[in-house]
Amino acid sequence: MVVGVLALQGSFNEHIAVLKRLGVKGVEVRKPEQLLNVSSLIIPGGESTTMAKLAELHNLFPALREFVQMGKPVWGTCAGLIFLANKATGQKTGGQKLIGGLDCTVHRNFFGSQIQSFETELPIPQVVAEDGGPPSFRAVFIRAPAILDVGPDVEVLSDIPLSAIETLNSNPAIQKEEESTESGKKVIVAVKQGNLLATAFHPELTADTRWHSYFLKMVPEIEGGTSDIVSTSTSN
Ligand code: GLN
Repeated sequence: MVVGVLALQGSFNEHIAVLKRLGVKGVEVRKPEQLLNVSSLIIPGGESTTMAKLAELHNLFPALREFVQMGKPVWGTCAGLIFLANKATGQKTGGQKLIGGLDCTVHRNFFGSQIQSFETELPIPQVVAEDGGPPSFRAVFIRAPAILDVGPDVEVLSDIPLSAIETLNSNPAIQKEEESTESGKKVIVAVKQGNLLATAFHPELTADTRWHSYFLKMVPEIEGGTSDIVSTSTSN
């Protein structure tokens, strides 16, 4: 069984390389019929409007939505998270097509532009618990989105207090957004909803494979044969 990686744009090669390190075959998906050959799908980071335009061009939306609705495991990282969300806000979202399915509202560029990208350690117990590796995960945020609210079926795996963000990223827009977040104190950066996993950051750009291992455990076909999946947790 192989894991599909949507390969329209963005960091799909990096995801395939991590899967290879874990002994799992990742294949590029560019056409609707290629989804028939994969058990699960990773949607990489990149640029979500470009990705949506290319998905439209390749007539991928119906097949992607069906894949999600069938309950197959899908993981969106960064632009992939935006693509999976039911609703996206933030600049330049007008008319942007989304796959949907993940019951949340995402702000496309919550953390600002390229120069406001940052890295931080996130404690994510569900993901780091199993292998005795470091107690947190080094998360890379690049022009990153954040989740502003979630529906009742969404499990929050990680959130960041806005006070911490201000020291990481001095984007004044974040203070404005504070008013629009429900709690007024935190934004969500990793969630799970049934077969869907989404992260606002880029695990494929670090040497720590624990997020990929976590996702692979959501894939029943692979779960049956996890013995050859090695979790190699190292710091960046
Ligand atoms: N904010 C970007 C977008 O709108 C996503 C950035 C990323 O994937 N690194 O698509």
